[in-house]
Amino acid sequence: MRTLTNISAVPYSTFRFNAQLATVTEFGSVAELENFHSDTTPVVLGEGSNTIFMQDLIAPVCRFVADSKTVTQLDPQHVLVHVEAGHNWHQLVSWAVEQQLWGIENLALIPGSVGAAPVQNIGAYGVELADSCLYVDFYHWQQRKVLRIAAGRCEFGYRDSVFKHTLAGKGIIVAVGLCLSKQPAPVLGYKGLDHLSADAAINTIFEQIIAVRSSKLPAPAVLANCGSFFKNPVIAMQQYTALKAKHAAIPGFIQTDNTVKVPAAWLIEQQGFKGKCYGDIGCYKLQPLVVVNHGAGTPAQLEQLVTAVQQQVQAAYGIQLEAEVRMLNAEGQPIR
Ligand SMILES: Cc1cc2nc3c(=O)[nH]c(=O)nc-3n(C[C@H](O)[C@H](O)[C@H](O)COP(=O)(O)OP(=O)(O)OC[C@H]3O[C@@H](n4cnc5c(N)ncnc54)[C@H](O)[C@@H]3O)c2cc1C
Repeated sequence: MRTLTNISAVPYSTFRFNAQLATVTEFGSVAELENFHSDTTPVVLGEGSNTIFMQDLIAPVCRFVADSKTVTQLDPQHVLVHVEAGHNWHQLVSWAVEQQLWGIENLALIPGSVGAAPVQNIGAYGVELADSCLYVDFYHWQQRKVLRIAAGRCEFGYRDSVFKHTLAGKGIIVAVGLCLSKQPAPVLGYKGLDHLSADAAINTIFEQIIAVRSSKLPAPAVLANCGSFFKNPVIAMQQYTALKAKHAAIPGFIQTDNTVKVPAAWLIEQQGFKGKCYGDIGCYKLQPLVVVNHGAGTPAQLEQLVTAVQQQVQAAYGIQLEAEVRMLNAEGQPIR
């Protein structure tokens, strides 16, 4: 275990606001967690690719950095991969692809740690973490032990899980168990993959995902960002039908429960935000759902942009956009 004090938040958030962090404690094992005591609820952090520090943080930051993985045969076709939370997500996907293990190849190039993956049930190109997750090992601060939470009890939903609700602030994920398959199972329904043949090799899919994502999304190391800033809103069919009558081009994807998911990027672009900046903060010129920090952006500029986007989309379509990114105040509480 090591604790750093009064350090810059820049390396701890891909949005790179220059806030100060009072303490960052890194844990290399569950035994180290057992020896940790804090009077205030810690802010749990992975690689900070979905976190923005809007103010200097007085709440302590905790990170679980152990990153081993073990593989166990479940049956002739499936393996269990038990991965510690500090493992980088994309490196895990690359490894699985090398091993010809199917299930997470569509989630290539999503930044961040394995430990954060269940929190918002990361998803892309028709696949979510929930599709391969068997369990999540969660160290509970009060109970002072690791609870194994079966996937069925993780309440996975669209960018959602129990870790954002009942278990928010209650502990830290230390490992994730994934079931991966030796049997090819390509998921090719999404735009950008639909031209691949039905028996495409896992490496082909992986490389195609990387190519498509790289062409659309700015790499955080080059241009600071936290990926999609807003969730795609899911609205009632009745509301969608009424909107369609007024805005014929509005796209929508019908969900299994007959609600409709509307691409937030379309709503934002229609309101003229593509490439628009408030100071050094703006909507990315190729993908307006991604908010970028061109270098010297400030929390006030980000507030201005987010408020303007939300107000204009609300006024035009009656839809309230919800932030996917976590913006934290000094006490470590989300501000939106
Ligand atoms: C360029 C770019 C593209 C992206 N594309 C996608 C995408 O396609 N799909 C997608 O779903 N997301 C995407 N994201 C968002 C981001 O990659 C994910 O949210 C990722 O899981 C964040 O990982 P992290 O370790 O950086 O999390 P952090 O930002 O450090 O934390 C995010 C959340 O997880 C919690 N958390 C982190 N570690 C733990 C832990 N060990 N235990 C308990 N809670 C923890 C934090 O408390 C916080 O609530 C993208 C981000 C960027 C910058």
